[in-house]
Amino acid sequence: MSTQPDQNDRNQSRISRRSFLGKSMLLGAAGVVGYTGAFARVTEQGAPEQDQGLPPQGHYLIKNAYVLTMDAKLGDLKQGDVLVQDGEIKQVSQNLNAAGAEVLAGDGMIVMPGLVETHWHLWTSLLRSMAGDTEGRGYFSVTRTVGQHYTPESMYTASRLAIAEAISSGITTLHDWSHNARSPEFAEASLQALREAGIRARYSLGVPAGKGGVVDLQLLERLKRDWNKLASDTLHLGLAWPGINDRREQGIKELKTARQLGIPVSVHASRAGVISGLMQEQLLFKGMQLIHCKDATSSEIQGIAKAGAVASLSPFSELRIGYGIPPVKELLDAGVTLGISVDTTTLTGNADLFATLKLLLNLANALNRSEFALSAKRTLEVGTLEGARSLGLAEQTGSLSPGKRADLIMLSANTLNAGYVTAPHQLVVEAMQPANVHTVMIDGRIVKRNHTLTHLNKEKIMAEAQTEFERVMGKSGW
Ligand SMILES: [Zn+2]
Repeated sequence: MSTQPDQNDRNQSRISRRSFLGKSMLLGAAGVVGYTGAFARVTEQGAPEQDQGLPPQGHYLIKNAYVLTMDAKLGDLKQGDVLVQDGEIKQVSQNLNAAGAEVLAGDGMIVMPGLVETHWHLWTSLLRSMAGDTEGRGYFSVTRTVGQHYTPESMYTASRLAIAEAISSGITTLHDWSHNARSPEFAEASLQALREAGIRARYSLGVPAGKGGVVDLQLLERLKRDWNKLASDTLHLGLAWPGINDRREQGIKELKTARQLGIPVSVHASRAGVISGLMQEQLLFKGMQLIHCKDATSSEIQGIAKAGAVASLSPFSELRIGYGIPPVKELLDAGVTLGISVDTTTLTGNADLFATLKLLLNLANALNRSEFALSAKRTLEVGTLEGARSLGLAEQTGSLSPGKRADLIMLSANTLNAGYVTAPHQLVVEAMQPANVHTVMIDGRIVKRNHTLTHLNKEKIMAEAQTEFERVMGKSGW
């Protein structure tokens, strides 16, 4: 069903875009270069412009759903109710009543925590499925070449497209691994898109493609200092760290700065030896996120577990780019906290985390030649609570536990690919698709209802992304 463009959304976006473009223009007029002016301006203004388009944090009672809480104490409730108020999960039980709450019928639905995505280069979303199939036309070539022609506007439109897809697909938390922040305005534009969408996210500042590979530490410090003015309650800052390979001194300096600032750090471990290199330098630490870990040896896996570092796997991109198969079961058996990720829709095509979870389970079973190597319930944990733990967010999200923020999804089984609720954990992992996502709540706000995004205008987001895609492709001559 096509929807009319929402006036609110149109206005909001127009205002917001004027906001960051306006800042750049003002800076130009004042003859100020670099990020100092932009951030000083934000500081003067105080809080960012109000994101008026966000749905309210309502008072909701979900009735009579099959509730998978992912909370070990609460377990699953076959005919369960979930009460939400002020953005928080208040109660999860049966036969609840709440005067004044809007009742959301859960009949025929599975209600569970929203999916937690743990590493995604949102900016590459303009370049969906653009990784070619010949030498020199692959993923790194296209993203590096076209990425140089990005502007803050490109970051904004790409992020909007990715976030809208995420929400529509049942993702309530994501990690924007933003390694194309070419100026402070780029970071600002990414943050604006995250903030306006109301999604829960880590924004990790990274090194732009083709800029010599040095993290702008001054910008990182400024982001940290002005975070409350640039971001929102559902966002936190991270470092998308390039690591120490061929850049030991610089890498250690960046890592030290991030740690002094108390900022979480994430690094790709795409090549053999990356993890052992970090272990030798004693640079692994609790909560450090290692991505892919595809060549991790058993001593490296033990090292990750011992340090309390965490792993993020993106099996679809790992298979598509020819990295190989990640050691799923070995990581889990060693007690490494694991999350799943989209990585980039340039390679994966879409952000379907249901399919990613299914692939994770199937790979673990195939590699171990056992039907029972990994259970659907354990797999769902990786996609929710454990993913949240890997991002340091388990106190806030990842399970339907009273006191946590209300990040949840309602999955309709009333489709041909599901039919009705059978074994719920297997059904979610094996049968469900983004098309089953009926309702999405983030921080107690309904951002998707009855299969329709509430405050994000998908037609507009897609049209703007297409315009921007054509512009950057034209500029790059790709
Ligand atoms: Zn990546």
